[in-house]
Amino acid sequence: MAGNWKMHKNISETTAYFEKFLPLVSESKHCQIVACPPFVNLPAAVDAVKSSRVEIGGQNCFWPNEGAYTGEVSATMLKAAGAKWVIIGHSERRQYFGETDETVLKRTVAALEAGVNPIVCVGERLEERESGRTNEVLETQFRNGIAGLSPEQFSRIVIAYEPVWAIGTGKTATPEIAADAHRALRDAVRGKFGSEAGNSVRILYGGSVKPDNVKSLMAQPEVDGALVGGACLQPESFASIVNF
Ligand code: PEP
Repeated sequence: MAGNWKMHKNISETTAYFEKFLPLVSESKHCQIVACPPFVNLPAAVDAVKSSRVEIGGQNCFWPNEGAYTGEVSATMLKAAGAKWVIIGHSERRQYFGETDETVLKRTVAALEAGVNPIVCVGERLEERESGRTNEVLETQFRNGIAGLSPEQFSRIVIAYEPVWAIGTGKTATPEIAADAHRALRDAVRGKFGSEAGNSVRILYGGSVKPDNVKSLMAQPEVDGALVGGACLQPESFASIVNF
């Protein structure tokens, strides 16, 4: 269960968040728990969770380790800050910051080389779903992006299926829609990396996951977890999702 804080919370709010959140998930052993705050909060977050099972991630990384790239943060910097995970290719990054499947691949490789686990996001826009092109879009995002990994690299990533029309809109995909998309992604993975990889790759669903819909989504065998935006910002709400 991963929480994407997006551009929310400062350092003191980060510390206060974990003071409330950690006791609420201290008994939760059934899943990995990841929180992805803004870059500047990473040291505070890593420090706050150090004696818990909760792991910290970044929300993006650039592929060179260092250089004249104003405003960017590398995967090796995330690693040094104590991040274990990084979200890559979030639809907001694709929509507002020009990320493409090709740059998603480069960021993913950089994260893997740095020893940070990537959560790679894919998902269709509303008009793509309405014109019946969902599976085609997912296959293209896969083919042009993470299909370029080696089998060993691929075995270390987590995919997040995040239909763009469901992100931050309150419109959750039905469990059946999520399961269909996850099946399409698993088929694409099987075609490239073989059936074992297609069965074992972890695929999170993301898009308006809330405490009251997480159970039905998680009841789908194809859904391995959730990437949560808005509902992870309150410790109680993210804890109810983790403890579904
Ligand atoms: C997200 O940002 O990854 C997300 C799924 O957001 P929300 O849960 O708010 O739809």
